[in-house]
Amino acid sequence: MRAPSFATLLAVVLPSIPAFAQAPAAAAPDLGARCRALFARALEDNRCHAILADLCATAPKRMSGSAGYATAVEWGRQQMLALGFANVRLEPCMVPHWERGAREELSIAAPGAFAGEKLAVLALGGSVATAPTGLVGRVVEFKGLGDLRENGARAKGAIAFLNQPLDPTELDTFRAYGKAVGQRWAGASEAARVGAIAVLVRSLTLRLDDHPHTGSMGYADGVPQIPAAAISTRAAERLSALLAAGHAVELKLALHCRTLPDEPSFNVVGELVGTAKPDEILVVGGHLDAWDAGDGAHDDGAGCAQALESLRLIRALGYGPRRTLRCVLFANEEFGTRGGNAYAATHADELAKHVLALESDRGGFLPRGFEGTLNDAARARLAPLYEALAFAGIAHWEPGNGGVDIGPMKGAGVPLVGLVPDSQRYFDVHHAASDVIENVHPRELALGAAAMAALLHYVDGLEGTLR
Ligand SMILES: [Zn+2]
Repeated sequence: MRAPSFATLLAVVLPSIPAFAQAPAAAAPDLGARCRALFARALEDNRCHAILADLCATAPKRMSGSAGYATAVEWGRQQMLALGFANVRLEPCMVPHWERGAREELSIAAPGAFAGEKLAVLALGGSVATAPTGLVGRVVEFKGLGDLRENGARAKGAIAFLNQPLDPTELDTFRAYGKAVGQRWAGASEAARVGAIAVLVRSLTLRLDDHPHTGSMGYADGVPQIPAAAISTRAAERLSALLAAGHAVELKLALHCRTLPDEPSFNVVGELVGTAKPDEILVVGGHLDAWDAGDGAHDDGAGCAQALESLRLIRALGYGPRRTLRCVLFANEEFGTRGGNAYAATHADELAKHVLALESDRGGFLPRGFEGTLNDAARARLAPLYEALAFAGIAHWEPGNGGVDIGPMKGAGVPLVGLVPDSQRYFDVHHAASDVIENVHPRELALGAAAMAALLHYVDGLEGTLR
Protein backbone atom coordinates (compact mmCIF):
# COMPACT_ATOMS: atom_id res chain seq x y z
CA MET A 1 0.00 0.00 0.00
CA ARG A 2 1.17 3.46 -0.80
CA ALA A 3 -0.02 6.68 0.76
CA PRO A 4 -1.50 9.22 -1.64
CA SER A 5 1.18 11.09 -3.51
CA PHE A 6 2.19 14.40 -2.09
CA ALA A 7 0.83 16.15 -5.16
CA THR A 8 -2.60 14.79 -4.18
CA LEU A 9 -2.06 15.53 -0.53
CA LEU A 10 -0.93 19.02 -1.37
CA ALA A 11 -4.03 19.77 -3.41
CA VAL A 12 -6.27 18.54 -0.61
CA VAL A 13 -4.63 20.05 2.42
CA LEU A 14 -2.60 23.01 1.24
CA PRO A 15 -5.31 25.64 1.77
CA SER A 16 -5.52 24.65 5.44
CA ILE A 17 -1.79 24.55 6.08
CA PRO A 18 -0.67 27.32 8.40
CA ALA A 19 2.03 29.59 7.09
CA PHE A 20 5.59 28.53 7.86
CA ALA A 21 5.74 29.22 11.54
CA GLN A 22 9.02 31.04 11.67
CA ALA A 23 7.49 33.86 9.65
CA PRO A 24 10.49 35.38 7.94
CA ALA A 25 11.01 39.11 7.80
CA ALA A 26 10.21 40.67 4.45
CA ALA A 27 13.78 40.43 3.22
CA ALA A 28 14.38 36.88 4.46
CA PRO A 29 14.31 34.11 1.86
CA ASP A 30 11.19 31.97 1.72
CA LEU A 31 11.18 28.24 2.38
CA GLY A 32 11.76 27.38 -1.25
CA ALA A 33 14.78 29.64 -1.44
CA ARG A 34 16.17 28.26 1.81
CA CYS A 35 15.82 24.69 0.55
CA ARG A 36 17.53 25.59 -2.72
CA ALA A 37 20.33 27.20 -0.75
CA LEU A 38 20.84 24.02 1.30
CA PHE A 39 21.07 21.91 -1.85
CA ALA A 40 23.38 24.36 -3.60
CA ARG A 41 25.66 24.53 -0.58
CA ALA A 42 25.79 20.74 -0.24
CA LEU A 43 26.81 20.39 -3.89
CA GLU A 44 29.23 23.30 -3.83
CA ASP A 45 31.10 22.24 -0.67
CA ASN A 46 30.99 18.52 -1.48
CA ARG A 47 31.78 17.82 2.17
CA CYS A 48 29.58 14.80 2.72
CA HIS A 49 31.63 12.58 0.46
CA ALA A 50 34.84 13.82 2.08
CA ILE A 51 33.47 12.87 5.51
CA LEU A 52 32.48 9.42 4.26
CA ALA A 53 35.81 8.87 2.51
CA ASP A 54 37.57 9.74 5.76
CA LEU A 55 35.47 7.22 7.70
CA CYS A 56 36.13 4.49 5.13
CA ALA A 57 39.86 5.22 5.23
CA THR A 58 40.07 5.47 9.04
CA ALA A 59 37.77 2.62 10.11
CA PRO A 60 36.90 0.50 7.08
CA LYS A 61 36.21 -2.60 9.19
CA ARG A 62 33.96 -1.69 12.10
CA MET A 63 31.85 -4.62 13.16
CA SER A 64 30.26 -4.41 16.58
CA GLY A 65 32.68 -5.22 19.36
CA SER A 66 35.76 -5.03 17.13
CA ALA A 67 38.82 -2.82 17.48
CA GLY A 68 37.74 -1.22 14.20
CA TYR A 69 34.47 -0.13 15.75
CA ALA A 70 36.35 1.51 18.62
CA THR A 71 38.38 3.40 16.01
CA ALA A 72 35.15 4.50 14.34
CA VAL A 73 33.81 5.80 17.66
CA GLU A 74 36.86 8.00 18.12
CA TRP A 75 36.55 9.10 14.48
CA GLY A 76 32.94 10.13 15.08
CA ARG A 77 33.85 12.05 18.22
CA GLN A 78 36.64 13.90 16.43
CA GLN A 79 34.36 14.72 13.48
CA MET A 80 31.77 16.25 15.79
CA LEU A 81 34.41 18.28 17.61
CA ALA A 82 35.88 19.47 14.31
CA LEU A 83 32.41 20.51 13.14
CA GLY A 84 31.96 22.55 16.30
CA PHE A 85 29.12 20.48 17.76
CA ALA A 86 28.31 21.03 21.43
CA ASN A 87 27.97 18.39 24.15
CA VAL A 88 30.00 15.84 22.20
CA ARG A 89 29.95 12.63 24.19
CA LEU A 90 30.07 8.84 24.09
CA GLU A 91 27.01 7.07 25.50
CA PRO A 92 27.68 3.48 26.62
CA CYS A 93 25.99 0.27 25.57
CA MET A 94 26.95 -3.41 25.45
CA VAL A 95 27.26 -5.00 22.01
CA PRO A 96 27.71 -8.52 20.64
CA HIS A 97 31.15 -9.52 19.44
CA TRP A 98 31.40 -12.06 16.64
CA GLU A 99 34.57 -12.65 14.63
CA ARG A 100 34.74 -14.00 11.12
CA GLY A 101 38.06 -15.77 11.65
CA ALA A 102 40.84 -16.36 9.19
CA ARG A 103 39.40 -19.13 7.08
CA GLU A 104 36.23 -19.32 4.97
CA GLU A 105 36.17 -21.85 2.16
CA LEU A 106 33.59 -23.61 0.10
CA SER A 107 34.52 -26.01 -2.68
CA ILE A 108 33.09 -28.93 -4.59
CA ALA A 109 34.21 -32.29 -3.18
CA ALA A 110 32.29 -34.52 -5.61
CA PRO A 111 31.65 -35.50 -8.32
CA GLY A 112 35.27 -35.83 -9.26
CA ALA A 113 34.94 -33.96 -12.55
CA PHE A 114 34.26 -30.74 -10.59
CA ALA A 115 36.26 -31.46 -7.44
CA GLY A 116 38.23 -28.53 -6.09
CA GLU A 117 36.08 -25.89 -7.83
CA LYS A 118 35.66 -23.01 -5.40
CA LEU A 119 32.37 -21.21 -4.69
CA ALA A 120 32.34 -17.67 -3.28
CA VAL A 121 31.21 -17.82 0.36
CA LEU A 122 30.89 -15.62 3.48
CA ALA A 123 29.79 -16.80 6.91
CA LEU A 124 26.59 -15.19 8.18
CA GLY A 125 27.02 -12.98 11.23
CA GLY A 126 26.47 -15.06 14.35
CA SER A 127 27.19 -18.40 12.71
CA VAL A 128 29.01 -21.13 14.56
CA ALA A 129 32.18 -22.56 13.03
CA THR A 130 32.63 -25.87 11.29
CA ALA A 131 35.25 -28.26 12.62
CA PRO A 132 38.71 -26.74 11.99
CA THR A 133 39.24 -28.96 8.98
CA GLY A 134 35.75 -28.28 7.66
CA LEU A 135 32.78 -30.51 6.94
CA VAL A 136 31.75 -32.42 3.84
CA GLY A 137 28.17 -33.13 2.88
CA ARG A 138 25.90 -33.70 -0.07
CA VAL A 139 23.83 -30.71 -1.09
CA VAL A 140 20.05 -30.54 -1.24
CA GLU A 141 18.46 -27.48 -2.85
CA PHE A 142 15.27 -25.77 -1.64
CA LYS A 143 13.51 -22.87 -3.29
CA GLY A 144 13.31 -21.04 0.03
CA LEU A 145 12.10 -21.46 3.60
CA GLY A 146 8.62 -22.62 2.55
CA ASP A 147 10.05 -25.39 0.39
CA LEU A 148 12.37 -26.42 3.23
CA ARG A 149 9.49 -26.58 5.72
CA GLU A 150 7.39 -28.71 3.36
CA ASN A 151 10.07 -31.00 1.97
CA GLY A 152 12.85 -30.80 4.55
CA ALA A 153 13.19 -34.54 5.17
CA ARG A 154 15.48 -34.75 2.13
CA ALA A 155 18.04 -32.58 3.94
CA LYS A 156 18.72 -35.02 6.80
CA GLY A 157 22.48 -35.36 7.15
CA ALA A 158 23.05 -32.98 4.22
CA ILE A 159 23.90 -29.34 3.53
CA ALA A 160 20.65 -27.46 2.92
CA PHE A 161 20.93 -24.94 0.08
CA LEU A 162 18.27 -22.22 0.21
CA ASN A 163 18.04 -20.68 -3.23
CA GLN A 164 15.19 -18.18 -3.20
CA PRO A 165 16.09 -15.27 -5.48
CA LEU A 166 14.92 -11.72 -4.81
CA ASP A 167 11.68 -11.06 -6.68
CA PRO A 168 12.74 -8.94 -9.69
CA THR A 169 9.19 -7.69 -10.27
CA GLU A 170 9.26 -5.59 -7.08
CA LEU A 171 10.01 -1.99 -8.03
CA ASP A 172 11.04 -1.25 -4.45
CA THR A 173 14.02 -3.53 -3.85
CA PHE A 174 13.48 -3.34 -0.08
CA ARG A 175 10.24 -5.22 -0.60
CA ALA A 176 12.08 -7.87 -2.61
CA TYR A 177 14.64 -8.12 0.18
CA GLY A 178 11.93 -8.35 2.82
CA LYS A 179 10.32 -11.29 1.03
CA ALA A 180 13.55 -13.30 0.92
CA VAL A 181 15.47 -12.33 4.06
CA GLY A 182 13.80 -15.04 6.14
CA GLN A 183 15.98 -17.69 4.53
CA ARG A 184 19.07 -15.88 5.82
CA TRP A 185 17.76 -15.15 9.31
CA ALA A 186 15.97 -18.42 10.08
CA GLY A 187 17.47 -20.84 7.54
CA ALA A 188 19.99 -22.44 9.90
CA SER A 189 17.51 -23.43 12.58
CA GLU A 190 14.84 -24.50 10.08
CA ALA A 191 17.41 -26.70 8.35
CA ALA A 192 18.73 -28.04 11.67
CA ARG A 193 15.19 -29.08 12.66
CA VAL A 194 15.19 -31.58 9.80
CA GLY A 195 18.71 -32.80 10.55
CA ALA A 196 20.82 -30.75 8.11
CA ILE A 197 24.50 -30.30 9.03
CA ALA A 198 24.95 -26.80 7.54
CA VAL A 199 23.00 -24.23 5.54
CA LEU A 200 24.02 -22.22 2.48
CA VAL A 201 21.89 -19.25 1.50
CA ARG A 202 21.68 -17.50 -1.86
CA SER A 203 22.90 -13.91 -1.45
CA LEU A 204 20.14 -11.33 -1.14
CA THR A 205 20.88 -9.28 -4.23
CA LEU A 206 19.23 -8.83 -7.61
CA ARG A 207 22.63 -8.81 -9.30
CA LEU A 208 24.26 -11.90 -10.75
CA ASP A 209 27.86 -11.61 -9.57
CA ASP A 210 30.59 -13.20 -7.47
CA HIS A 211 30.05 -11.22 -4.23
CA PRO A 212 28.55 -13.13 -1.32
CA HIS A 213 26.38 -10.85 0.85
CA THR A 214 26.57 -11.52 4.57
CA GLY A 215 24.13 -10.36 7.26
CA SER A 216 22.75 -11.37 10.60
CA MET A 217 21.16 -14.71 11.41
CA GLY A 218 19.72 -16.17 14.57
CA TYR A 219 19.48 -19.58 16.18
CA ALA A 220 16.17 -20.73 17.63
CA ASP A 221 16.22 -22.07 21.19
CA GLY A 222 16.39 -25.81 21.58
CA VAL A 223 17.60 -26.53 18.03
CA PRO A 224 21.17 -27.66 17.20
CA GLN A 225 23.31 -24.79 15.96
CA ILE A 226 24.72 -25.52 12.49
CA PRO A 227 27.11 -23.39 10.39
CA ALA A 228 25.43 -20.86 8.10
CA ALA A 229 26.91 -19.00 5.14
CA ALA A 230 25.91 -16.95 2.11
CA ILE A 231 27.09 -17.85 -1.36
CA SER A 232 27.23 -15.46 -4.31
CA THR A 233 24.37 -15.46 -6.77
CA ARG A 234 26.68 -16.90 -9.45
CA ALA A 235 27.75 -19.68 -7.11
CA ALA A 236 24.07 -20.34 -6.36
CA GLU A 237 23.28 -20.54 -10.09
CA ARG A 238 26.26 -22.86 -10.65
CA LEU A 239 25.26 -25.17 -7.82
CA SER A 240 21.64 -25.22 -8.92
CA ALA A 241 22.62 -26.04 -12.50
CA LEU A 242 24.83 -28.95 -11.40
CA LEU A 243 22.01 -30.34 -9.27
CA ALA A 244 19.47 -29.83 -12.05
CA ALA A 245 21.76 -31.78 -14.37
CA GLY A 246 21.49 -34.72 -12.01
CA HIS A 247 24.90 -34.55 -10.36
CA ALA A 248 25.15 -35.74 -6.76
CA VAL A 249 27.10 -32.76 -5.52
CA GLU A 250 29.09 -32.87 -2.31
CA LEU A 251 30.62 -29.73 -0.88
CA LYS A 252 33.39 -29.02 1.59
CA LEU A 253 32.73 -26.07 3.89
CA ALA A 254 35.20 -24.58 6.37
CA LEU A 255 34.27 -21.62 8.61
CA HIS A 256 36.46 -20.45 11.48
CA CYS A 257 34.15 -17.81 12.95
CA ARG A 258 33.37 -17.50 16.66
CA THR A 259 31.27 -15.56 19.14
CA LEU A 260 33.07 -13.81 22.00
CA PRO A 261 31.56 -12.23 25.13
CA ASP A 262 29.64 -8.96 24.71
CA GLU A 263 31.82 -5.85 24.67
CA PRO A 264 31.28 -2.38 26.12
CA SER A 265 30.72 0.10 23.29
CA PHE A 266 29.26 3.51 22.52
CA ASN A 267 26.82 5.65 20.59
CA VAL A 268 28.50 8.92 19.54
CA VAL A 269 26.40 12.01 20.25
CA GLY A 270 26.81 15.73 19.53
CA GLU A 271 24.49 18.71 19.17
CA LEU A 272 23.68 22.09 17.77
CA VAL A 273 21.93 23.58 20.79
CA GLY A 274 18.67 25.36 20.03
CA THR A 275 18.47 29.10 20.57
CA ALA A 276 14.74 29.31 21.39
CA LYS A 277 13.72 25.88 22.68
CA PRO A 278 16.91 24.03 23.58
CA ASP A 279 15.04 21.34 25.54
CA GLU A 280 13.12 20.26 22.43
CA ILE A 281 15.13 17.81 20.36
CA LEU A 282 15.37 16.64 16.77
CA VAL A 283 17.53 13.53 16.42
CA VAL A 284 19.31 12.74 13.18
CA GLY A 285 21.51 9.71 12.72
CA GLY A 286 22.76 6.57 11.08
CA HIS A 287 24.56 3.51 12.38
CA LEU A 288 28.30 3.50 12.76
CA ASP A 289 28.82 -0.25 12.76
CA ALA A 290 29.08 -2.14 9.47
CA TRP A 291 29.64 -5.61 8.12
CA ASP A 292 33.24 -6.39 7.36
CA ALA A 293 33.09 -7.65 3.78
CA GLY A 294 33.37 -4.14 2.35
CA ASP A 295 33.87 -0.79 4.08
CA GLY A 296 30.23 -0.13 4.96
CA ALA A 297 30.28 2.89 2.66
CA HIS A 298 26.58 2.80 1.81
CA ASP A 299 25.53 0.77 4.87
CA ASP A 300 25.68 2.89 6.81
CA GLY A 301 28.69 5.14 6.51
CA ALA A 302 26.56 7.17 4.13
CA GLY A 303 23.89 7.74 6.77
CA CYS A 304 26.49 8.78 9.37
CA ALA A 305 28.14 11.21 6.94
CA GLN A 306 24.75 12.63 5.92
CA ALA A 307 23.69 13.12 9.55
CA LEU A 308 26.88 15.04 10.29
CA GLU A 309 26.65 17.00 7.04
CA SER A 310 22.98 17.93 7.51
CA LEU A 311 23.84 19.78 10.73
CA ARG A 312 26.88 21.38 9.15
CA LEU A 313 24.71 22.70 6.31
CA ILE A 314 22.10 24.14 8.66
CA ARG A 315 24.71 25.98 10.61
CA ALA A 316 26.69 27.05 7.54
CA LEU A 317 23.59 28.82 6.26
CA GLY A 318 22.69 30.34 9.62
CA TYR A 319 19.36 28.51 9.86
CA GLY A 320 19.12 28.53 13.64
CA PRO A 321 18.39 26.02 15.00
CA ARG A 322 15.56 27.08 17.31
CA ARG A 323 15.43 23.60 18.85
CA THR A 324 18.35 21.33 19.61
CA LEU A 325 19.53 19.23 16.67
CA ARG A 326 21.20 16.10 18.00
CA CYS A 327 23.37 13.91 15.80
CA VAL A 328 23.60 10.29 16.93
CA LEU A 329 25.94 7.72 15.37
CA PHE A 330 24.40 4.51 16.64
CA ALA A 331 26.29 1.39 17.73
CA ASN A 332 25.34 -2.09 16.58
CA GLU A 333 22.44 -1.85 14.17
CA GLU A 334 23.51 -4.92 12.26
CA PHE A 335 23.55 -7.29 15.17
CA GLY A 336 20.67 -6.51 17.48
CA THR A 337 19.97 -2.74 17.68
CA ARG A 338 21.78 -2.41 20.97
CA GLY A 339 22.76 1.21 20.25
CA GLY A 340 19.22 2.22 19.38
CA ASN A 341 17.85 0.49 22.45
CA ALA A 342 20.48 2.16 24.65
CA TYR A 343 19.66 5.60 23.25
CA ALA A 344 15.94 5.20 23.93
CA ALA A 345 16.64 3.91 27.46
CA THR A 346 19.26 6.55 28.30
CA HIS A 347 17.00 9.37 27.10
CA ALA A 348 13.67 7.94 28.25
CA ASP A 349 12.99 10.99 30.41
CA GLU A 350 13.30 13.41 27.48
CA LEU A 351 11.64 11.40 24.70
CA ALA A 352 8.43 13.36 25.29
CA LYS A 353 10.44 16.41 24.16
CA HIS A 354 11.72 14.69 21.01
CA VAL A 355 10.06 16.47 18.11
CA LEU A 356 11.46 14.19 15.41
CA ALA A 357 13.90 11.35 14.85
CA LEU A 358 15.34 11.09 11.33
CA GLU A 359 17.52 8.25 10.07
CA SER A 360 19.35 7.54 6.84
CA ASP A 361 20.06 3.82 6.39
CA ARG A 362 19.09 2.94 2.83
CA GLY A 363 22.32 3.89 1.08
CA GLY A 364 23.77 7.13 -0.26
CA PHE A 365 21.71 7.21 -3.44
CA LEU A 366 19.62 9.92 -5.09
CA PRO A 367 16.94 11.02 -2.59
CA ARG A 368 13.31 10.45 -3.58
CA GLY A 369 11.55 11.40 -0.34
CA PHE A 370 10.88 10.04 3.09
CA GLU A 371 8.99 7.31 4.91
CA GLY A 372 7.91 7.08 8.50
CA THR A 373 5.37 6.87 11.25
CA LEU A 374 3.69 10.25 10.81
CA ASN A 375 -0.08 10.29 11.10
CA ASP A 376 -2.21 11.99 8.43
CA ALA A 377 -2.28 15.35 10.19
CA ALA A 378 1.47 15.38 10.68
CA ARG A 379 2.05 14.36 7.07
CA ALA A 380 -0.18 17.18 5.94
CA ARG A 381 2.04 19.60 7.83
CA LEU A 382 4.94 18.51 5.60
CA ALA A 383 3.12 19.55 2.43
CA PRO A 384 4.80 22.97 2.15
CA LEU A 385 8.19 21.28 2.51
CA TYR A 386 7.40 18.85 -0.30
CA GLU A 387 6.30 21.77 -2.44
CA ALA A 388 9.59 23.49 -1.67
CA LEU A 389 11.57 20.34 -2.52
CA ALA A 390 9.80 19.57 -5.78
CA PHE A 391 12.71 21.17 -7.68
CA ALA A 392 14.92 18.36 -6.35
CA GLY A 393 12.52 15.62 -7.42
CA ILE A 394 11.55 14.86 -3.84
CA ALA A 395 7.92 13.74 -3.94
CA HIS A 396 7.77 10.32 -2.33
CA TRP A 397 6.19 9.46 1.01
CA GLU A 398 5.27 6.06 2.35
CA PRO A 399 4.22 4.78 5.76
CA GLY A 400 7.14 3.01 7.42
CA ASN A 401 9.24 2.63 10.52
CA GLY A 402 11.76 5.42 9.92
CA GLY A 403 14.80 3.28 10.68
CA VAL A 404 16.00 0.43 12.83
CA ASP A 405 18.09 2.57 15.19
CA ILE A 406 15.38 5.13 15.92
CA GLY A 407 12.74 2.41 16.14
CA PRO A 408 13.02 1.97 19.92
CA MET A 409 11.71 5.54 20.35
CA LYS A 410 8.43 4.63 18.70
CA GLY A 411 6.80 3.47 21.92
CA ALA A 412 7.31 6.93 23.41
CA GLY A 413 5.45 8.47 20.49
CA VAL A 414 8.47 10.12 18.86
CA PRO A 415 7.66 10.79 15.17
CA LEU A 416 10.09 8.66 13.15
CA VAL A 417 11.18 9.43 9.59
CA GLY A 418 13.64 7.72 7.26
CA LEU A 419 15.28 9.13 4.16
CA VAL A 420 14.17 7.21 1.05
CA PRO A 421 16.74 7.21 -1.73
CA ASP A 422 16.31 5.40 -5.02
CA SER A 423 16.55 1.72 -4.14
CA GLN A 424 17.64 0.13 -7.43
CA ARG A 425 21.35 -0.26 -6.65
CA TYR A 426 21.36 -0.66 -2.86
CA PHE A 427 21.27 -4.45 -2.76
CA ASP A 428 24.01 -4.64 -5.38
CA VAL A 429 26.45 -3.70 -2.61
CA HIS A 430 24.54 -4.41 0.61
CA HIS A 431 26.71 -6.37 3.12
CA ALA A 432 29.16 -7.27 0.33
CA ALA A 433 32.78 -6.56 -0.58
CA SER A 434 31.49 -4.06 -3.14
CA ASP A 435 30.16 -1.69 -0.43
CA VAL A 436 33.13 0.66 -0.79
CA ILE A 437 33.58 4.40 -1.28
CA GLU A 438 34.21 3.98 -5.01
CA ASN A 439 30.57 2.91 -5.35
CA VAL A 440 29.19 6.03 -3.66
CA HIS A 441 28.36 8.94 -5.95
CA PRO A 442 29.43 12.22 -4.29
CA ARG A 443 26.54 14.30 -5.66
CA GLU A 444 23.83 11.75 -4.89
CA LEU A 445 25.20 11.42 -1.34
CA ALA A 446 25.25 15.21 -0.91
CA LEU A 447 21.70 15.57 -2.21
CA GLY A 448 20.51 13.12 0.44
CA ALA A 449 22.21 15.18 3.15
CA ALA A 450 20.58 18.33 1.77
CA ALA A 451 17.15 16.68 1.82
CA MET A 452 17.71 15.71 5.46
CA ALA A 453 18.86 19.22 6.32
CA ALA A 454 15.75 20.64 4.66
CA LEU A 455 13.46 18.37 6.66
CA LEU A 456 15.25 19.16 9.94
CA HIS A 457 15.17 22.89 9.21
CA TYR A 458 11.50 22.82 8.29
CA VAL A 459 10.38 20.80 11.33
CA ASP A 460 12.59 22.94 13.57
CA GLY A 461 10.58 25.93 12.37
CA LEU A 462 7.14 24.43 12.93
CA GLU A 463 5.12 25.49 15.92
CA GLY A 464 3.82 22.55 17.90
CA THR A 465 4.70 18.96 17.12
CA LEU A 466 4.16 16.23 14.55
CA ARG A 467 2.64 13.86 17.11
ZN1 LIG B 1 22.25 -0.39 7.71
